[in-house]
Amino acid sequence: MDADLAELKRRLPLLEYLQRRHWKAQHVGAQQEFVGLCPLHQETHPSFYVNAGKNLFYCHGCGRGGDLIRFVELERQLSFRQSVAQLQEEWCSGPVRDLLKHTVTFYQQQLSRHPEAIEYLRQRALWNTELFAELQVGYAPGGNLRAHLTALGYPFALLLQTGLINHQGRDAFYQRVIFPCRQQGQIVNLYGRSIGAAFPHRFLPRSRGGLFAWDLVAHYPTMILVEGLFDLAVLWQCGLRNTTCAFGKQLTPFQFAQLCERPDRLVYIAFDQDENQAGQQAARALALRLQTVGVAARIVSLPAGHDPNSYFSSGAATADFAVLLEQASSL
Ligand SMILES: [Zn+2]
Repeated sequence: MDADLAELKRRLPLLEYLQRRHWKAQHVGAQQEFVGLCPLHQETHPSFYVNAGKNLFYCHGCGRGGDLIRFVELERQLSFRQSVAQLQEEWCSGPVRDLLKHTVTFYQQQLSRHPEAIEYLRQRALWNTELFAELQVGYAPGGNLRAHLTALGYPFALLLQTGLINHQGRDAFYQRVIFPCRQQGQIVNLYGRSIGAAFPHRFLPRSRGGLFAWDLVAHYPTMILVEGLFDLAVLWQCGLRNTTCAFGKQLTPFQFAQLCERPDRLVYIAFDQDENQAGQQAARALALRLQTVGVAARIVSLPAGHDPNSYFSSGAATADFAVLLEQASSL
């Protein structure tokens, strides 16, 4: 039981749990401390503190504190045993995990059968099939997922609940290249990039987890942070395996805490060079926040209008990107 419990808390850090439940937090003073309104009592001034390093909370308002299990006991009025059982069912085991695994396998099989998807990846400078296998890249042609999953015995209600299928019974991902988001080896969400005219980016309506592939990159003292999975894929393809992705410009508190785990870390921020300066501003703001907690940051300047993926798909090579890393500036 003790080992299971430690494993549960490792897989599902308290901050990540709170964040999935839309707890809004601000980073405070010490490296991995966050404060926000207490989810356990009514208040107007934030007095609920989470130490992401120690994986503990304490509320100065209602005087309660403890670990993840304690929080769930209080939040849901459950016994210790019931809390553990519920958490294991919701996050770490159970049908959703298997459902996502089966979906990813199915989409992976579709990729090689749909030349339009391979062609799309090629246009985005991605061609390495070994990398596709490693990242479990797939393709959702649309129209055939429900029948496949139903044949495997999954109830329609579960497909609906996870957002894989919409109320009309159609695939939520339609003509999209699929990247699974994994955390601690488990698939927690899917990202779908439209290859057609549909809204380009789509995730399932559930947590995206922390930084992408964190268990594979966390050991690197020097790290490249990008906005999107196509940026990440192109950098992994050219051997820059120390790249991670935040799924956008704004890091969640949990993702920020991950970057700060190692005080000796150097983070290269390679966000998009947007015409409206959004990427550049977000990069500067993040570099500043990192420096405030003692983590060194450098900002990579791509040519105007480019993100790392478009830089490569417009003909740049690994050596060109290496020069950009060399020229990256601190604040
Ligand atoms: Zn409280």
